[in-house]
Amino acid sequence: MLKLTGPAAIAGVILAFVVLHLGFPPEAHDPRTTGTTMLGGIAFLLMTSSVLLSTRAELFEEWFGGLDRMYQVHRVAGTFAALFALVHFFGVPKELPPGADPAANPLFPSMPLGMLTLITLVIGLFIALNRKIRYSRWRPTHRIMGLVYVLAIGHFMTAPAIFFERFSASGIVLMLAAAIGVTALVYSLFGMNRRTALPFTIEAVNALERATEVVLKPVGEMLDFRPGQFAFVEIEGKGWNEPHPFTISSAPGEGRLRFTMKVLGDWTRQVREELKPGGNVLVRGPYGRFDTAEAGPKQVWLAGGIGLTPFLSTIRAMEPGDPRQIHLVYAAREERDAIFLDELRDRAAALGNVTLVPLFSDEGNFARVDKMAENLPDPLPSYDYFLCGPKPMVEGLVKDLRAAGVPRSRLHTEAFEFR
Ligand SMILES: Cc1cc2nc3c(=O)[nH]c(=O)nc-3n(C[C@H](O)[C@H](O)[C@H](O)COP(=O)(O)OP(=O)(O)OC[C@H]3O[C@@H](n4cnc5c(N)ncnc54)[C@H](O)[C@@H]3O)c2cc1C
Repeated sequence: MLKLTGPAAIAGVILAFVVLHLGFPPEAHDPRTTGTTMLGGIAFLLMTSSVLLSTRAELFEEWFGGLDRMYQVHRVAGTFAALFALVHFFGVPKELPPGADPAANPLFPSMPLGMLTLITLVIGLFIALNRKIRYSRWRPTHRIMGLVYVLAIGHFMTAPAIFFERFSASGIVLMLAAAIGVTALVYSLFGMNRRTALPFTIEAVNALERATEVVLKPVGEMLDFRPGQFAFVEIEGKGWNEPHPFTISSAPGEGRLRFTMKVLGDWTRQVREELKPGGNVLVRGPYGRFDTAEAGPKQVWLAGGIGLTPFLSTIRAMEPGDPRQIHLVYAAREERDAIFLDELRDRAAALGNVTLVPLFSDEGNFARVDKMAENLPDPLPSYDYFLCGPKPMVEGLVKDLRAAGVPRSRLHTEAFEFR
């Protein structure tokens, strides 16, 4: 789940800005200018948050609860920034107040820069939120948001003092944010936000039902990860495009990395049809905070389809004598689709503390909270829940679990998408 430290930090900075802006407004401001420049400032701070989140910094993973959550907040902050920027644009006075000297308060180039910022922002937002654009095309075009950010800085830094007083209390906050934001932007745009790539060779490519298991052998250093974490997989060679994120489905001690990839679009289909042992792969990571080791002794793991992968790694890593009591609900369309079911049955029998509950929708069995309440030995709020699977399934279960009295802090979800 989203951790609240990160959002609280963003809200805190915005609140401090608002208090400083309203408490110590520049002398020449009328109330309309104060209000609309405040909205512009909030828009800029939200944009800065969005830029900072794209650095993928480990500290932010801690504050927000994982990289998937960081990208969700990145999107929400960007959208709200655009809304505030729009209100600022339409509300802010377009002329100098009566009596102001136009020579001492030039509106050029701030005004056209503001207009340009808004136009690129609207185009950028249309691209960012358009799910019809394929990810491989979407990613490079999304970089237009970097230009929006720089234009926004140009807009307010060249604004006449009557609209933006640089060394007012709130002006200093915006300038500091701009300095940090530009550094973060350069860091991300030049790829410094990517963790060090470790080289691997492809040892095996195993075809499963509607999925492919890729087994990687380290060329040198092995990736240090915890069960439940994911990494970016970058296949070397022509035609493989950008890195793709996948949960590591092997256990940390195996000496190999295994990824189980559902065939979904062009890239995963290419993996299935063209990937051969012997090729080279770069792996960057690990990322993610979907960690069952940090939760209580009673746990329910809810896996929908390919959402099994983080649990696979965990169950493969578990040793007999593990003190936790685990109920693994594995929902799939039909038994044929439930990959690794036999291995899970064997592991559950060997470990003794794992109760496996396979559910197949073609037999009319779905993961349902009322059924869990009937079948779990203890009341629902006494368990920690880990959910990974299709978005509607996870959202529906979270809603029902909350309604059944399960506290938010006991619900842990992993989203298999960033945008
Ligand atoms: C944290 C995380 C863990 C994941 N773990 C697994 C896993 O263990 N097994 C599994 O089968 N799938 C996993 N996925 C999903 C997997 O990354 C996508 O299914 C895959 O990238 C689809 O690529 P495609 O070109 O075949 O499909 P497309 O049809 O092009 O894409 C399908 C979806 O994947 C997203 N996507 C596509 N390319 C990328 C990319 N380069 N980076 C980020 N998102 C992309 C798209 O936005 C789209 O929503 C995970 C995703 C995330 C974010």
